[in-house]
Amino acid sequence: MGSGQVTSTSELFDFQGKHVTVAGLGVSGVPAAKVLHARGAVVTVVNDGDDARAREQAAELRALGITVRLGDGATLPEGTELIVTAPGWKPDKPLFLAAGKAGVPVWGDVELAWRLRGPDAAPWLAVTGTNGKTTTVQMLASILEAAGLRTAAVGNIGVSLLDAVLGEERYDVLAVELSSYQLHWAPSLRAHSATVLNLAPDHLDWHGSMEAYARDKGRIYEGNKVACVYNVADKATEDLVREADVEEGCRAVGFTLGTPGPSQLGVVDGILVDRAFVENRQKNAQELAEVSDVNPPAPHNIANALAAAALARAFGVPATAVRDGLRAFRPDAHRIAHVADIDGVAYIDDSKATNTHAAEASLASYEPIVWIAGGLAKGATFDELVARSAKRLRGAVLIGADRALIRDALARHAPEVPVVDLDRTDTGAMLQAVTEAKRLARPGDTVLLAPACASMDMFTNYNQRGDAFAAAVRELDA
Ligand code: ADP
Repeated sequence: MGSGQVTSTSELFDFQGKHVTVAGLGVSGVPAAKVLHARGAVVTVVNDGDDARAREQAAELRALGITVRLGDGATLPEGTELIVTAPGWKPDKPLFLAAGKAGVPVWGDVELAWRLRGPDAAPWLAVTGTNGKTTTVQMLASILEAAGLRTAAVGNIGVSLLDAVLGEERYDVLAVELSSYQLHWAPSLRAHSATVLNLAPDHLDWHGSMEAYARDKGRIYEGNKVACVYNVADKATEDLVREADVEEGCRAVGFTLGTPGPSQLGVVDGILVDRAFVENRQKNAQELAEVSDVNPPAPHNIANALAAAALARAFGVPATAVRDGLRAFRPDAHRIAHVADIDGVAYIDDSKATNTHAAEASLASYEPIVWIAGGLAKGATFDELVARSAKRLRGAVLIGADRALIRDALARHAPEVPVVDLDRTDTGAMLQAVTEAKRLARPGDTVLLAPACASMDMFTNYNQRGDAFAAAVRELDA
């Protein structure tokens, strides 16, 4: 590929001499600015902040001859023909309103990577959903690897898409995690096959409404070539498939925890089976793996495994690779991680359950549970979660800024469940929470950290919250 000339299988885009504005420095902005500059674009970076880190990054880019405006991310630079934005920037920002008026297109990091792919680029198997994305993408990569394919889990995790697309490494296929923000700014993305794992209200302040959020998630199905994979238990995901404009011959394939119908993957007597990618699917089914091959075999995680298997099978992967890939998969930290068994009680860290939908899946995986919950609610309500999970609860220990919301929901829907309300946010709070949980638990119970809330009121992030939980459990065990 000559410099200044960009060829891709779906779109031709020549950046030479184009006035491109990069919105936002940071993890995606800096590499985007560099690659656009290298392709001959006239690049201006605009950034809201003007702190020490931004100045450092600006100096690096200016040394290359790139214009950087710090402290002004709102004004559209004169002559802009294209904006490439950091995915987190909200669509109602003045910069985008000005771009809309001027007819200037806006791309996110995913769209840029998509447009920069080479002519024989690896196809993308894409995953989105409110919860389970990272896990599913990693399971998928593990299955593809087990099939002997050169692949990587990329996108919203690990390797950036830009690096995957432009790097030296040659891939046969990519397992791509996409957030709703990234999809919002990716108008021409066309995956080989894709899935929306589930759909529950999240990030609504960013998208503006549930409809807009669903629409952005649904973009992942647009132009799919082989399969649109949906969740049979979540009708909204199937509706998105129906609304998508896909390539001729592309199939809708469902996954279910129940017995699969034709064109579905599901579970029969503890076995994951495929009734979609088999000869004569009216009659036949292919055994893929056992439920016990899924790590951990919690219901929502079996759903993730089925979605990953469906995408892999759509790519032509044999059944044995699905089994081997699932067996080899190890979940990331703080996702239903077993910390210890003490006096017959299991201690589980699902700090990554940062919203009610995730926490509900987590709570559905155990019984009886002493539930440690609370933090920043991000506008969520807890009535449904508590009402559906009440019968599994031995007790609850509440922490964090918005714990009163959960306490009130427990009072309404589970008045008989004992609740300990911890009115402290210092570093010792988690140790007290775990101590209280231990007091409530009986042998055979599970103490589950599944906060249903973000962590930033008490911790730097969910990792630190999970680490604090694990440290507290070990201290009790000492
Ligand atoms: P994401 O990348 O979408 O945030 P993860 O794979 O990191 O998803 O999982 C985040 C949390 O969501 C997990 O800790 C678990 O509580 C919950 N979770 C995972 N898979 C599912 C699912 N399929 N449905 C509901 N909740 C899930």
